[in-house]
Amino acid sequence: MIWIGLGTNQGDRVGYMVQAVQEIQKYGYHLCQLSSLYETAPWGIEDQPSLLNAVAILEKKEDPLVLLDDLLEIEKEMGRIRVQKWGPRIIDLDIIELQGEKWDHPRLKLPHPFAHTRSLDLAPMAELAPDYCLGKQEKTVQEWLKELPEQSFTLHQDTSWAQAQRTIRNRS
Ligand code: AMP
Repeated sequence: MIWIGLGTNQGDRVGYMVQAVQEIQKYGYHLCQLSSLYETAPWGIEDQPSLLNAVAILEKKEDPLVLLDDLLEIEKEMGRIRVQKWGPRIIDLDIIELQGEKWDHPRLKLPHPFAHTRSLDLAPMAELAPDYCLGKQEKTVQEWLKELPEQSFTLHQDTSWAQAQRTIRNRS
């Protein structure tokens, strides 16, 4: 599976999430599943607004560095300005996992090095595939999630996100 993580904690958060999903598709990527939206505690720097997060699954394998460049380009086009590492962001797009491949490239680490430690990745992943093993590790995403010290996430219901999910479901 090829997993993309999406997150935001500034401005019209749902609007940015919906826009990011549309942009990824405009770049020609086919999404076959989209998780619900989750409200999660800030990660990396605690003193910032909480995050909205979701994950998407890509239908077919892509060149990892091309995919990374496209995601960074989408972030830029949407107006993301990098001020502070792990600081507030209008949109953050990560490659969480690419069919169990292990990458230690200067520009790309796979699986995403923090994914198994963060509810922002694990909660939406567990919704779509609780038994999936990141990087072919022995633990499933559900198990990693249960081991987190705090279960700091809640579902965030939103009609425009539900519509985005329906569109992807109906297409696949
Ligand atoms: P950030 O936006 O703070 O998540 O960091 C983006 C930077 O992390 C990019 O310049 C990438 O080169 C690098 N990076 C390394 N591994 C990954 C990954 N799995 N997904 C996204 N960005 C990555």
